[in-house]
Amino acid sequence: METTNQSQNAVKVYLCPMHREVRQPNPGKCPKCHWMYLVPEGTRFGMLRSMVKSPLQLFIMAAVMVAITVAIMITMR
Ligand SMILES: [Zn+2]
Repeated sequence: METTNQSQNAVKVYLCPMHREVRQPNPGKCPKCHWMYLVPEGTRFGMLRSMVKSPLQLFIMAAVMVAITVAIMITMR
């Protein structure tokens, strides 16, 4: 018993780019960090990866992301 039109019936799962364990059936904000928007499975990091071309860029982006996270954590207190 197999369905042939799987691409149409594919269940979309939305994931948080920062939290691998977050899997939701609907788009929205991550229930863990409350500020990252969930992205459909498969496209995770797709946009980010296309933007990052070199390891240095990746490092800078990671540093910026950490800085933003820390800033938000401090602000939320
Ligand atoms: Zn998250």
